[in-house]
Parts: sequence; structure tokens; C-alpha cells
Amino acid sequence: MNGLSYLALLDGGGRSPPLSICGLLLYQNPILPSVTFLVLRTHYSGDILPEMDGSEVTLAGWAHEVRDLGGICFLVLRDREGFAQVTLVAKKVDKDLLERVRRLSRESVLLVRGRVKGEPKAPRGYEIIPSEIDLLNEAESPLPMDPTGKVGADLDTRLDSRFIDLRRPPVLAVFRIESEVLRSFREFFSENGFIEVCTPKVVATATEGGTALFPITYFEREAFLNQSPQLYKQMLMSAGLDRVFEIGPIFRAEEHDTRRHLNEAISIDVEVSFADEEDVMALLERAMAKAYTDVADRCQKDLSALGVDLAAPKTPFKRVTYTEALKIANEGRENEIEWGDDLDTEAERAIGSAIGEHYFMTEWPTTIKPYYTQPYEDRPEISRGFDLMHPTMELASGAQRVHDPALLVEKIRRQGLDPEGFEFYLRAFRFGMPPHAGWGLGLGRVVLTMLGLENIRDAVLFPRDRRRLVP
Ligand code: ATP
Ligand code: MG
Repeated sequence: MNGLSYLALLDGGGRSPPLSICGLLLYQNPILPSVTFLVLRTHYSGDILPEMDGSEVTLAGWAHEVRDLGGICFLVLRDREGFAQVTLVAKKVDKDLLERVRRLSRESVLLVRGRVKGEPKAPRGYEIIPSEIDLLNEAESPLPMDPTGKVGADLDTRLDSRFIDLRRPPVLAVFRIESEVLRSFREFFSENGFIEVCTPKVVATATEGGTALFPITYFEREAFLNQSPQLYKQMLMSAGLDRVFEIGPIFRAEEHDTRRHLNEAISIDVEVSFADEEDVMALLERAMAKAYTDVADRCQKDLSALGVDLAAPKTPFKRVTYTEALKIANEGRENEIEWGDDLDTEAERAIGSAIGEHYFMTEWPTTIKPYYTQPYEDRPEISRGFDLMHPTMELASGAQRVHDPALLVEKIRRQGLDPEGFEFYLRAFRFGMPPHAGWGLGLGRVVLTMLGLENIRDAVLFPRDRRRLVP
């Protein structure tokens, strides 16, 4: 079989004979006869080095560009890992093959078999001299957008044709980096004794009052999409899971139109027993610093595609109290924010540019933090809640939580909510709830701020906002 190595093949011994479909060899899996595996590529474009001169390879990908100079024709094949130049010299190559390449529509899917030839003038120092090119699927033309990025497209056009937009290396780079961020966080949690959990996304009650919920029909009842895993991760502290994390969607029915809000977001949530807010702030800054370091160490190619020079933030992050931050925000501001009011975007920006790096905002007024936030015992008007801030926006909110059931009921009431709706949650506090603390960190905002992107929509594959429900 031309010395090809095969992807996803089972042990050779029991193979049934190959089938040929569209010029491809297929093997039927003898254990699961209905599953067939494509006998495809030997390498990604990025695996090939000029030193492999003379080796036979099979690449699979998209016809990025065909440049026909008459005597010589260049086909640029693109796959996930980059580009490969396929060179067809008119005098040397089979006429029929050359004609087929000349007629190729851009973005058609191809399988190219050929020989590597070291070529200093080619983009990666090599070219492929093809022996066979199979057209696996022809792309229609014209294309809905230009996948080379030479013709600019606005964000809406790009999101409408996201499958093509993602074919551009800098766009894909964002999601490879996001994948590394997720891997890094999971590794951090695993190294620190956390259990990964999955809590329900279809729920009967709001987490924090009924305003920002998406109602859904659940058989004959009304239900909602979960705003956050808050109540469930806290119940798991009563259950004795001690340290949990969840990476999952949260839904907010807010009519935002900002560059940092979506109606569906991915939250990295953590809850830890026998811990206070300082303990979980320390975890958060370590996890963030590790994510930056891991991306810098492992995603150099993607960072270069984006033109980003990444430096890990210094730990420990600065701690700034709400009261200190308010003073900064009010300097030179006409409509002063009063102590006890929430900080608006303008205030966040002013404080962020004064501080200039990641920081924790601490000692928030009790009244503007959710009911489950523990107040300081000696000054109950101030809470053990905190936000992790990037100079441009909030990244996470966290706190030591209330664990005393009587105080929790009182705080639910004070926030104008009915404790009856929270009975399933409150029960967990009456029968042995340890003190605990935790946080929720928005994945999209981490990637957005890490890479200096314009908009959270650039950091989400298929964003959901008030206007966008497809694709
Ligand atoms: P903001 O004040 O910026 O609207 P929030 O305080 O309402 O955020 P939290 O409930 O504290 O958000 O959620 C924790 C984290 O989840 C936020 O810090 C943010 O990173 C992320 N997050 C929350 N809501 C959204 C959203 N609508 N879009 C994107 N990320 C979000
Ligand atoms: Mg918050």
C-alpha cells in the first residue's frame, strides 16, 4: 500500500479487503462492521520538513489557492496545521492531472499523494511533487466569504459563515489557545485535588432572583435555563465533595449589547470547603498565572499568528478594596458614585487604567453582592465577596459563602426573595454544611483579555446574543 501509514486502523490481522469509494481506500472494521475508516493522510502539512526530501506523503485538506503560471502551476493545500505548496511542472506532470488542478474550485477538499522535495524558495522550505490528487468534495463558488483574509469581512458576515471564517489561521488560533486554557485549568484542578462535576442546566428556580432567566417549557411545568451552578456546587459542599469544579454553560436573559456580554457563556466554577475568600483568591490567581504560562509555552505558533506577545501576570495579584477603588473612580468624575452603588463600565475602566494589571477588588458592600455572600462578622455592611478584574473588565466573582442556615434565610428575604423557592437548597445547610468559598470565571473573557481581542464574539465559536441564534 505504497508504504502509507494509516490513521485509525485496527490491528491488520483481521481486516477485510479494502473497498474503494471515490478513489479512496476504505477498510471495514471487522469488530464493528458498520464502521469504515478512511485510509487517508500520512502527515499534516506542519509535520513535513525539508529534510524529508524524497519521502512519499499523503496530505488532506482544502484547495486554498491555485496559481497557474502556464509552465508551472502551484496548488496551495491548507490543513489545520498550515499550508503545503504542491508544484506541478507542465512538462513533467500528467496532463490530465494538471488540467484537473487548473479547474479546481477554491476550498474544494483534496487528497494529495506525492513526494517531498526540499525547495528553499517554497514557503516552508519544501514542496510536494504530486503523483495523485483526489477531489473528495467540490466547493461551490462563489464562496460566502474570503477564507484567505485578503478581502475583509465584518463580524456579522464572519459569524454567519463561521465554518469558513475558522479556516483562517488567526481565527482558528484563538480556539486552539482556548483549548489550551481549558486543558491548563483542568490540569490545575486535578493537581489540587478537585473533583469535576456536572450540574443541571434545566432548573426550577433562579439563582439570584427571577430577572435574568430564560423560561423554557418542561413538560407541563415552567422551568428555566441555569444562570450559574452556584446553588448546586454549594450543595455539593454539604455532600462532602470538598473541592469541586465545573466548566459549563450559563444562561443570562439580559438584553446586553456590549463587547463582553453574551446570553450564553462558559463559566469555570469552583467551590471549596473549609476555605475562606483569601484561600480561593489564591487558587484563582495561581490558576490564571498557570493558564498564561501554559499558553505562552505551548501555543507559540498560534500566538504569532495573532501577533500576541504573552507575558504571565505577576502573582500575587494586587488587592484593592471597593472603598479604595471608588475613590479612584470618582476622581474627576462629574456624576460621583456613592458608597454602596455598583460600579459602572466607566468606573471599571478608570480603576483598571490606574492599576494597570490584574487585580482583586475586595470588601464589597454587602448590599450589592448576592445573598449567599458572607458578611464580615465585625462589620456586617462589608462582605467577603471579591471580583477578579482585568484592567478592562471583570473576569470572575467569588466569595466566602454564608453557611449558617438562619443567616442565609434572612439574607434571601432581605434581597426580596422568597425562601420557600430555595427549600431544596436550604435543606443542604440544615444538616451539616461546612464553611466554604468559591468563584465563577468567564472563559470567553479570559480568552478575550489574554489575546487583546475586540469582542467576546471573537472568543466564542458560535456566540449567542439577543439577535443571534444561528448558526
Ligand atoms: P457583569 O457585571 O460583567 O455583567 P456579573 O457580575 O453579572 O458580570 P457573575 O454573575 O459574577 O457576572 O458571573 C461570573 C463571571 O461569569 C463573570 O465575571 C464573567 O466573567 C462571566 N459572565 C457572567 N455573565 C456573563 C455574560 N453575560 N457574558 C459573558 N460572560 C459572563
Ligand atoms: Mg460578578
